[in-house]
Amino acid sequence: MNTESTRKIRLIMKLRNMGIKDTNVLSAIETTPRENFIPDALKDKAYEDMALPIGLGQTISQPYVVALMSEALRLTDRDKVLEVGTGSGYQAVILAKICRRLYTIERHKPLLDVAQQHFDALKINNITAMAADGMKGWPQQKPFDKIIVTAAAFERPPEALFEQLKIGGIMVVPVGDRIEQVLKRYEKLDDDTYSVTDLVGVRFVPLLPNLASKQEQLDDAYI
Ligand code: SAH
Repeated sequence: MNTESTRKIRLIMKLRNMGIKDTNVLSAIETTPRENFIPDALKDKAYEDMALPIGLGQTISQPYVVALMSEALRLTDRDKVLEVGTGSGYQAVILAKICRRLYTIERHKPLLDVAQQHFDALKINNITAMAADGMKGWPQQKPFDKIIVTAAAFERPPEALFEQLKIGGIMVVPVGDRIEQVLKRYEKLDDDTYSVTDLVGVRFVPLLPNLASKQEQLDDAYI
């Protein structure tokens, strides 16, 4: 058995021990090469349970958080899902292996282009990706059964995302300040009623408005 698959099995066991039970989520993680989504210099850390930098000041989330968020969505193969914050595209692939169709939005066009190459290389054909401001959601494709936001919302999730969620739908989103947040699961009960559950403390990069400008990309190029 090579080291890569040993490390992968160890990670899956760790996720189980940490309480992840959804077998669809565990098998999506088991069959997705996380090393593809990570810069060359860090590839030996691909199966450690940690967030890693992917360029432009952004990060690929820690596997436990990817697993927890995916499980919290209670995904089925009938779900139409929106992800805000494509980043490396790793979380998108995990979701797409379980749901019917995934729409994903990223405000950094260069990150989206690289993520799209990974989707193509892995022959994942049920993802539609767009460079835009995900705080506005994807109105042409609403309503969504599930919504996942992989960047931190300040104080509360964007109103447009609530509006684009189906009644009975679930949204998982980190909410807090720039330093730390709580992962929250919202269930939409009717047009203006939600139940909210706090899941765990997390640290995400911030959810920011508008497409990233050229200047912002230059400023963040070496982070
Ligand atoms: N899901 C990613 C992790 C992404 S990190 C993965 O698996 O790798 C969060 C991402 O959210 C960053 O790439 C950031 O650029 C993006 N982001 C922040 N605000 C956004 C917005 N308003 N719309 C779309 N993407 C946004």
